[in-house]
Amino acid sequence: MPPPEQVTLQRVVDLADLDLRAFLEGEIRAGGLTASEGRELLMETLPGWAAPYENASATVAADLYDQKRYASGVDLVVPYAPALAPPAEPARWGILASWALAPVVDETDWSAAFQKIVGGAHRTIADAHRNTTMGNAVADRGARGWKRVGRGSKTCDFCKMLIHRGDVYDSISVQFKSHDHCRCAAETEFESIEALEFSELGGSARKRVQTDADRARVREWLRWERDANPDF
Ligand SMILES: [Zn+2]
Repeated sequence: MPPPEQVTLQRVVDLADLDLRAFLEGEIRAGGLTASEGRELLMETLPGWAAPYENASATVAADLYDQKRYASGVDLVVPYAPALAPPAEPARWGILASWALAPVVDETDWSAAFQKIVGGAHRTIADAHRNTTMGNAVADRGARGWKRVGRGSKTCDFCKMLIHRGDVYDSISVQFKSHDHCRCAAETEFESIEALEFSELGGSARKRVQTDADRARVREWLRWERDANPDF
């Protein structure tokens, strides 16, 4: 079974891929638009089209994070509310449309252009899922970090190599290197309850030691007072 991170990511991006392809074929190719008309239409519509998919992608990742955190028991020791990764800058969509439609100017090769647009959109929408998991895994004291996951034929060779390494990252500076049609995901590694309880109780354990030392000093002082003054 593929990990739930990959399953949920795939569900959202596969829907988005189908939807976008239908739009491109129906509105641009079948509509007989020129390259510049196609570019204008895409620049106008892509950010608005992508927003609900990016939001859905980030939301399913945050929900899954919450469920796994709760199931791990970490929630009982350190409460935490996962946040959604911010959507891509709207300018990104304009850049994608211009770059993808460049070959169409010379020869009307819509197929190659559509492949690039769907690939770029796929990557941005999948990144909303990955960035949500990664951002929370780094910010959350109950998590050790995140690692790359993916299984089966939808997992590319590049990712298989990294997944095999099994590295766990805990820094916000590490990005998820992905490519356009990648369906690999980020998975959180939660802390063990024992390790968390140890670090969380560390503060109060230290306080207990101080309290014991204080009590010992009081007992010693009382003993000294009693010895020095039998009537005390
Ligand atoms: Zn991949």
